[in-house]
Amino acid sequence: MFTQRLILTGDERHDEPLIQQAAAIIRAGGLVAFPTETVYGLGADALNPEAARRIFLAKGRPAWDPLIVHVAEPADIHRYTRDHSTLIEKLIRTFMPGPLTLVLPKREVISDVVTAGRETVAVRIPRHPVVHALIRSSGVPIAAPSANKFGRPSPTTADHVLQDLHGAVEAVLDAGATPMGVESTILDMTTQPPTLLRPGGVSREAIEAIIGRVRMLDETFLEGVPLPAPGLSARHYAPNAKVLLCDPQPEAFYDVLVHTLSCYAFVGAMRPNGWQLPDSKRLRVFEWGAWGDWQTLAQRLFRGLRALESMGVHAIVCPLPPEEGLALAIRDRLQRAAHD
Ligand code: AMP
Ligand code: MG
Repeated sequence: MFTQRLILTGDERHDEPLIQQAAAIIRAGGLVAFPTETVYGLGADALNPEAARRIFLAKGRPAWDPLIVHVAEPADIHRYTRDHSTLIEKLIRTFMPGPLTLVLPKREVISDVVTAGRETVAVRIPRHPVVHALIRSSGVPIAAPSANKFGRPSPTTADHVLQDLHGAVEAVLDAGATPMGVESTILDMTTQPPTLLRPGGVSREAIEAIIGRVRMLDETFLEGVPLPAPGLSARHYAPNAKVLLCDPQPEAFYDVLVHTLSCYAFVGAMRPNGWQLPDSKRLRVFEWGAWGDWQTLAQRLFRGLRALESMGVHAIVCPLPPEEGLALAIRDRLQRAAHD
């Protein structure tokens, strides 16, 4: 199969035919990759089990790992899920559209393939105008995980999508780099208190300000024990290089780089602005952004890991952000990328 790249200009008149072309592929049971405000997604009709099954094949994703269903408006959340408390209504009003995914009891119409046989479904209303237009134009809810091969860093550009999935999807809508760069926050609303399954674009602090305390999912899972959140395995988001995390101080970064250069032939650095580097011809550098500017660092995280990987480094040294706000989402992705 040849994957078409449909390049959007941001001008609605020019883009509308391309959106319609992509929507026709979705309606016919095909796969389309598209930008969201978080990362690029790989979408199929969530009401069509055959189409949803193709997502798992294209990604090499295990069938037990459920997909997030993307809808256009709050009425659609009611159409596909049930048992809504006032807390849920508050979350919808405050954070949607946006990078918050809710796990809720599902209604029949949502395919078991999408939910991996669960009685719950993860839903969100994305904010990016392209995916919004695509959902409206296709007239169906769109099941979509990130548009990468299973376990790889998530794609934040159409090039990343094509690196992983060229020939496996009918089309990719290309609207440039995604603005947030890390995936949505996933909140399980079927537990009491709600459980934060994955930190992401909406911070824990912002959620707690609206609905009170949420529980964090324990980060370590014992092998052989059923995962409370399928798909959130310890190793994920990993480039083809060893990821080494260091304390977030310039001196520690420098020292770990020196040490890593003594162990590996080519070493990559995710470098915060101005942090000093050892002098070595075997060092490759990605200029990440200003330390503490979590928005920029999140936006450029996966791009950096992929860029260093493509320069052929064997190890990547990266400082670890703190456990707060958006920094927690970056920290989570890096810890999974670094996990053996
Ligand atoms: P991705 O689509 O790659 O961002 O991954 C979506 C993640 O959402 C999955 O790996 C699961 O961990 C989580 N998820 C999706 N649906 C459910 C559900 N019904 N219950 C719990 N977690 C879910
Ligand atoms: Mg993913």
